[in-house]
Amino acid sequence: KKLTSAELRQMYLDFFKEKGHKIEKSASLVPVEDPSLLWVNSGVATMKKYFDGTVKPENPRIASSQKSIRTNDIENVGVTARHHTLFEMLGNFSIGDYFKKEAIIWAWEFLTDEKWMALDPEKLYVTIYPDDEEAERIWKEEVGLDTSHIVKEEGNFWDIGEGPCGPNSEIFYDRGEAFNDLPEGHEENYPGGENERWLEIWNLVFSQFNHKPNDVYDPLPNKNIDTGMGLERMLSILQDTPTNFETDLFMPIIEHVEAISGKSYKDNAESKVSFKVIADHVRALSFAISDGALPSNEGRGYVLRRLLRRSVMHGRRLSIEKPFLSELVPVVASIMKEHYPEVDNAVEFISKVILNEEERFLETLAAGLDKVNELVDTLKEADQTVLSGKDVFQLYDTFGFPVELTEEVVSEQNLTINYPEFEEEMSKQKERARAARQAEGSMAVQSSLLSDLKIKSEFTGYTEDEEVSKLTR
Ligand code: ATP
Ligand code: MG
Ligand code: MG
Ligand code: MG
Repeated sequence: KKLTSAELRQMYLDFFKEKGHKIEKSASLVPVEDPSLLWVNSGVATMKKYFDGTVKPENPRIASSQKSIRTNDIENVGVTARHHTLFEMLGNFSIGDYFKKEAIIWAWEFLTDEKWMALDPEKLYVTIYPDDEEAERIWKEEVGLDTSHIVKEEGNFWDIGEGPCGPNSEIFYDRGEAFNDLPEGHEENYPGGENERWLEIWNLVFSQFNHKPNDVYDPLPNKNIDTGMGLERMLSILQDTPTNFETDLFMPIIEHVEAISGKSYKDNAESKVSFKVIADHVRALSFAISDGALPSNEGRGYVLRRLLRRSVMHGRRLSIEKPFLSELVPVVASIMKEHYPEVDNAVEFISKVILNEEERFLETLAAGLDKVNELVDTLKEADQTVLSGKDVFQLYDTFGFPVELTEEVVSEQNLTINYPEFEEEMSKQKERARAARQAEGSMAVQSSLLSDLKIKSEFTGYTEDEEVSKLTR
């Protein structure tokens, strides 16, 4: 079935409306009254108030298309076929109402029924938690799925140590043998493993236990359902595209970048990554800014600054030297305005913020370039060939000059970099940042239960993996 992104989103919501769900508007990407979470990263992150009983929902059945940001996937963007920083999560939720049976049967109906997605059932595979006999029985007996399509997976259990938890079941689409190869940098994706052939589309979480001290798992009196399906992934199946990026959600942005750069998306694998990263990041920037976040040196703002600078660097790889990202904002707005008018409503403001930030970064780059040229001249005058790691670090840390640009200049001049020394400076810097964070204390707060059910905290994710001062000056 060939559907547009808008049609798919609407059909999902219509389907669950028919099943008695209240359709909720996407919540802001900036979490409301939840200091433990940097960004809303899933549908369930916005349902916490219902899941923990703080608020009683009008209707215990809810469905939504929730804008979500995952910074833990930044490095995956453009490398895998399926990861974005900003994506839409289609989700249906039961707050102590229906449970496993309905969740599974409805997911299957939506995916395979002629009236809905009409996917070939032969292409669908599911994973279950090995001890979840109930899910196994439902998939086999109620759905009629062949055993060869049911994979037992030890990791299919959401548990954060204490509080509500339970097994989950995920649905995968077999994209066929053409996807058997595992391109460099791709992570394994089961059920088949070792390649990107099996695309994870939908996660059904069955929250049925209360994890108590001493590893006691008591059945919850009110069991909950939380599901999440990536809109972009489902769309790539319907539009039969090699990755999420060739769909109607991204191609108009990519085409605009083609026009600006004079380069073609199809030309080569390397520039394709740059097109994808730019298209992805400008969506995340536009949505986040429309929800009130702004580029800065810390927290959410730091994420935005980093997304913008990465985009600019990828623009340079496509030979774009001038500010260009702000020109893409109206394109994003028009693709998304039917369901997310907030971006279109703020299009001028968003463009201004992005242009301003882009100009500042280009100034930083120009100043850094002067500095690196000076260093190179000094080296040459002294008849030396190795740029010290300390200098490279200082360019990066003090002048905010990306190491990849230093590398470029240095190798053009047939010089090299003292990498071990640079690495040493980097790890010292990480140590300093860690100590500073500990002194600050607040970063470690992880009070929430449910946001963490679905993915590990983004907050710890980025503070541990990244150097906080990176690209900040
Ligand atoms: P993956 O293993 O592919 O990284 P996940 O298991 O981390 O996905 P879940 O936390 O189960 O993802 O989220 C539910 C659904 O949301 C996924 O099945 C997928 O369809 C979608 N999804 C998750 N992360 C992303 C992302 N970064 N970009 C696009 N879609 C995503
Ligand atoms: Mg993931
Ligand atoms: Mg997964
Ligand atoms: Mg998953």
